[in-house]
Amino acid sequence: MRRSSDEIAKMRRAGRVVAEMHDRIRAAARPGVTTAALDLVGREVLERRGAKSNFLNYHGFPAVICTSPNDMVVHGIPGDFMLEDGDIVSIDCGAIVEGYHGDAAFTMPIGQVSDQASELMRVAEAGLWAGIAQMTDGNRLNHIGRAVEEVAHRAGFSVVREYGGHGIGTAMHEDPHVPNYWPGRPGPKLRVGHVLAVEPMITAGGPELCQLDDGWSLVTADSSLSAHAEHTIAVTEHGPEVLTLP
Ligand code: MG
Ligand code: MG
Repeated sequence: MRRSSDEIAKMRRAGRVVAEMHDRIRAAARPGVTTAALDLVGREVLERRGAKSNFLNYHGFPAVICTSPNDMVVHGIPGDFMLEDGDIVSIDCGAIVEGYHGDAAFTMPIGQVSDQASELMRVAEAGLWAGIAQMTDGNRLNHIGRAVEEVAHRAGFSVVREYGGHGIGTAMHEDPHVPNYWPGRPGPKLRVGHVLAVEPMITAGGPELCQLDDGWSLVTADSSLSAHAEHTIAVTEHGPEVLTLP
């Protein structure tokens, strides 16, 4: 679905709220802080900006952010898990402004982390930006995933295949699905007004996932570390515009 410039302006406002949530949470996350405390930081920003959460109550999800530490890939529920020196944690959150959605994620170090963890986070970001660079008018949807996968594989890491990015607009998850790998065909053309959430999930080991008993948390099947990065991006006449930046 192609969005008008007025619609994209609303998504830009939602995206700025998401960026502010990221900034505040990044500043609050340190050893000894629980993931539930980070959820409260996210709630405060939403309230102050008069924005709604698209995570809270999504299929019953109980928080406004997802917190996924270490071998957890995505969809972790904030709670009494206490961050420790050496952890990495993925923070994923979104906001709704005037009915339009933003969605973005990042993975950050807590204190001093291993070289492998640093490299994994760097590659998740680099893969995200390589995918974003493909979001130009007339290019093909699956060139995004091809670019993400190339960055991950060059670094010796895996790309999660069971989950990916998505269209976004008046709902958080709209068509199309955006794979983070080359699915063997180029897919539909990207056009001005298309808005996508691109979100590589990169693992240091294999790409297989397991779901925990809470019905949400997804961890790597081999317990290897994982990093996740996401932005909401519009295709414009001037190339990709990342809507979830400050
Ligand atoms: Mg998303
Ligand atoms: Mg997200």
